[in-house]
Amino acid sequence: MREIKVVTRKRNEMVDITRDVQDVVEQENIDEGVAIVYVPHTTAGITINEGADPSVQRDIVETLKKLVPETGNYNHIEGNSDAHIKASILGSSVTVLIKNERLVLGTWQHIFFYEGDGPRTRKVIIKIFSS
Ligand code: ZN
Repeated sequence: MREIKVVTRKRNEMVDITRDVQDVVEQENIDEGVAIVYVPHTTAGITINEGADPSVQRDIVETLKKLVPETGNYNHIEGNSDAHIKASILGSSVTVLIKNERLVLGTWQHIFFYEGDGPRTRKVIIKIFSS
């Protein structure tokens, strides 16, 4: 297993980690296989979406904020229930195929880390299976 570090600067933020994951694939010399990209944190998530136009990331972040407001009738005393809910909406991992030492992603697809309770320094775990 490999780990990468992700630093966020805002409370709600998406960070493009495609390059970091691709670097791991190249360092492991995996010709063909599968990568599981997993985030071991309860207020963070992982998703694949468009990376060409940064407006898409902003729209996702802003829509999540509208769907799940920071304050509300929550029970969790820590005060970050919205972040937990946003993390569950996105999910904690993605699976990406690997071919010829490259992540098999669509033309516009990038891998994004999402933080809902930043700023924080987080880790993302990558496990690669060769086939
Ligand atoms: Zn909490």
